[in-house]
Amino acid sequence: MKAIILMKQTPDTAKLSSSVDGLQLMADVEARIVNPWDEYALETAISLKEDHGGETMAFSMGKPEATGALKTGLAMGVNSAALLSDPAFENSDTLATARILTAAIKKAGEYDIILAGKSAIDGDTAQTPVQVAALLGIPYLGYVSKIKEIDFL
Ligand SMILES: Cc1cc2nc3c(=O)[nH]c(=O)nc-3n(C[C@H](O)[C@H](O)[C@H](O)COP(=O)(O)OP(=O)(O)OC[C@H]3O[C@@H](n4cnc5c(N)ncnc54)[C@H](O)[C@@H]3O)c2cc1C
Repeated sequence: MKAIILMKQTPDTAKLSSSVDGLQLMADVEARIVNPWDEYALETAISLKEDHGGETMAFSMGKPEATGALKTGLAMGVNSAALLSDPAFENSDTLATARILTAAIKKAGEYDIILAGKSAIDGDTAQTPVQVAALLGIPYLGYVSKIKEIDFL
């Protein structure tokens, strides 16, 4: 079993200042965390590995400081992680983000499942994983709260 996890580093909303409008806050908050919804994806991937064996790999597209999010994933038990970072990626919209993630997933070779958060707490479009699935031509299952049983054929 090989599970891929999509992890975004987001501003720590607990540390937001109320003095700036919402859009500015996204850029100005220095404290960064793993997108909380992605922590559920991480925990699910790690428990799938415990139950079925195999490996887990995390991808994040972002600035160099997004390595912090990936290190959290590695500390939690993810086997390997890759940061996708290039000045050319700045100001990517969700489709550009999905294209970058998809290109990396294709390079990673065979996989059984891709896990992502419900949405990112900053952008909050919930579009990226749907677009990744469409670009890969695989089914997308949204708003999953728990995997009780899974059969990797
Ligand atoms: C029309 C439009 C224009 C935009 N313009 C800009 C812009 O000019 N500048 C800018 O900075 N942002 C811009 N954005 C926001 C940017 O597209 C998003 O921050 C980013 O592409 C991911 O979307 P999201 O934050 O809504 O994540 P969602 O789609 O809500 O995230 C859902 C899940 O996808 C995965 N995921 C999302 N992003 C990543 C990532 N980077 N790496 C790994 N996994 C990820 C995570 O598992 C996450 O839980 C724009 C968005 C839209 C819709």
